[in-house]
Amino acid sequence: MRALRYHGPKQPLRLEDVPAPQAGPGEVVVRVTAAGLCHTDLHFLSGLLNLGVAPLTLGHEIVGKIESVGQGVPAGRVGERVIVYYYAGCGTCRFCLGGEENLCDALHAEHGFVTDGGFAERVRVPARNTVPLPANVTDAEAAPIGCAVTTAVHASELAHVGLGDTVAVMGAGAVGFGLVQVARLRGARVIAVGHSPDKLVRAKELGAEEAVRAGADDVPARLRALTGGRGVDVVFELVATRETMGWSLAALGKRGRLVFVGYSEDDLRVHPIQLVVGEQVVTAAVGCSLAELRTSVDLVASGRVTTVVDRTVPLDRFQEAVDALGAGDLVGRAILVP
Ligand SMILES: [Zn+2]
Ligand SMILES: [Zn+2]
Repeated sequence: MRALRYHGPKQPLRLEDVPAPQAGPGEVVVRVTAAGLCHTDLHFLSGLLNLGVAPLTLGHEIVGKIESVGQGVPAGRVGERVIVYYYAGCGTCRFCLGGEENLCDALHAEHGFVTDGGFAERVRVPARNTVPLPANVTDAEAAPIGCAVTTAVHASELAHVGLGDTVAVMGAGAVGFGLVQVARLRGARVIAVGHSPDKLVRAKELGAEEAVRAGADDVPARLRALTGGRGVDVVFELVATRETMGWSLAALGKRGRLVFVGYSEDDLRVHPIQLVVGEQVVTAAVGCSLAELRTSVDLVASGRVTTVVDRTVPLDRFQEAVDALGAGDLVGRAILVP
């Protein structure tokens, strides 16, 4: 079968023929119909994120149809449309016992990170990692649920976003669009911050009350002004450059939570006195639980959250999607169709 293979940092992705996977006990093979391209995939290519596994098929937003099942999996599941939960935890560590496989001490698999993912015609995953998709969500619409929506759901929960909070979303990409909507559903007022006017327009359509334009507005001053001087309660950092981290800290109010979801080459620099006098918290969120993926599917299926797809491209035109994402030209996700 055809698969888009990663060969390590600063190496080009290559479309190759590889053996088709076979479902082992408790597993299924999914015929992939849509797979979202995430900024994390660019971090693999640049080497910023290097988990040391290559060659590897990337792609952690995976949608498709169950094509075959292994021993112990009901044959009736063949043909089911599913989205994949990309973590396969050990099931017995302190985190897995609480359903938090994203923090597992001994992962069995992490699809698209250290285990083959969705940029291929087929992927082999544990049967329990497949969540059925309702018919009213198309394959392309569903793919961004797997990371963009689930990351927003998980990060909002960790940050205790609630009624009356003012939330700044630093970065208006696919995860940012998820955060705008999820924070709003939890009762917060949301301010989107981004460079691209097109992305900020989309953020407002999705529920951001205000949009602040990086590069044109004085970002922390605008965020202070929009909160009557008190600062925002939560900042989700999706960009995390020295510049945006400076803005985030300058705009954070008392008891404010600065939540890292994205990262760059830059270090966080903050004097503890700022955190002390305002009792501020610096925290971070990674991935999601299987339960949060199910919640995310329900949010999209019921129309409470909308995924944003800029374009769908055939797998063999992957470079077009990679270049557009790297250039910041995408409003929402590019979806690869193997
Ligand atoms: Zn992702
Ligand atoms: Zn575990």
